[in-house]
Amino acid sequence: MTTDQQSKTQGLIDQAMHFGAHNYHPLEVVLTRGEGPFVWDVEGRRYFDFLSAYSAVNQGHCHPKIVKALVDQSRVLALTSRAFHNDKMGAMLEKIAEVTGFPKVLPMNTGAEGVETAIKAMRRWGYRNKKVAEGKAEIIVALGNFHGRTTTIVGFSDDPGSYQDFGPFTPGFVQVEYGDVAALEAAITPNTVGVLIEPIQGEAGVKIPADGYLAGVRAACSKNNVLLCWDEIQTGLGRTGKMFCWQHEGEEARPDLVILGKALSGGLYPVSCVAGTEEVMNVFDPGSHGSTYGGNPVAAAVAVAALEVLEEEDLPNKALALGEHVKARFDKEITTDNLAETRVRGLMLAVEFKTGIAHDAAVALQHKGVLAKDTHETTIRFAPALTITKEQLDEALDIIIPTLNEF
Ligand SMILES: *Cc1c(COP(=O)(O)O)cnc(C)c1O
Repeated sequence: MTTDQQSKTQGLIDQAMHFGAHNYHPLEVVLTRGEGPFVWDVEGRRYFDFLSAYSAVNQGHCHPKIVKALVDQSRVLALTSRAFHNDKMGAMLEKIAEVTGFPKVLPMNTGAEGVETAIKAMRRWGYRNKKVAEGKAEIIVALGNFHGRTTTIVGFSDDPGSYQDFGPFTPGFVQVEYGDVAALEAAITPNTVGVLIEPIQGEAGVKIPADGYLAGVRAACSKNNVLLCWDEIQTGLGRTGKMFCWQHEGEEARPDLVILGKALSGGLYPVSCVAGTEEVMNVFDPGSHGSTYGGNPVAAAVAVAALEVLEEEDLPNKALALGEHVKARFDKEITTDNLAETRVRGLMLAVEFKTGIAHDAAVALQHKGVLAKDTHETTIRFAPALTITKEQLDEALDIIIPTLNEF
């Protein structure tokens, strides 16, 4: 490593810090290229990317099939707005309908927009179908949730870092303990229109609820005429070893609405959507919702390719098998007394320590060629591309496990 290269890294960091608002605190690495499970920094060092852009890159960086879809479509037609039809959007909606098993799909761009769309759908269904009195609709959310960064969404977060001094907030949200069906059912009132929950809480540090929770929430919603919306923006599209995380509990846990984002484009483009039942999705009529970029031809071509890659390469099943392998190695080889627990569902992984060393561990891993992100001081989570081979995964674990054992 030359001083020249180091100063290049520092120069790029300084530039971003100087001109950018400081709403992130990234690791001190500047990336310039990605391929499959790997990224390279501007000094030419290769890293295993074990964050995968918070699971947006399930298909691996710059997957050739998705890149081709992006490039080819960009040359032909990129944006029409929804004032006109385009010849690509229908195929995306049909593909998402096929994969989710829902008849209706509404395309947006970012995850947070998908969440906002689901909130609108549940509220309107509540007023029009459940006959809740005007302005009284309640939506139940979980403590520890992360659903995005809009003012409405941060208003029902219990993380002060997310909501402090951004109020006043949208009323109509009720928080309950995550993982507790009885608490959720007790919070349901005649004004409850929906439940919005992550099937595994990703940003909270990969909090996996007990078996039966998802089906239990579904049953409580059905019994009380309340809609269920799983936010599968992070857990969906193969990450947890099933196409959708709810499928770990089968059709018993099927929601009325599901929100997708992140890997819906394999990291090439912001694409999100809500998919749901006719009854709920039919609350939208012309003029009631929209997005200039939502459903654009590039997004559509990219999303179709991204979903085909998940299927063609059997990535959900691969994640399931590789997750078992990781679990076995974690159980056997993580020997530090500082270990609190490991959490594994497919390739959605977290190691929790007893003490707040997670950031130091992430920095140590960075220096050894693995990029991962600490969260809540005590937890490191790992989310490699689902395209990673077993050999590559073992190579990364051969770095990760001994490093964690030093803490
Ligand atoms: C990332 C994420 C979001 C927000 O998505 P953005 O594209 O960043 O707006 C919402 N919900 C969950 C569960 C997420 O992981």
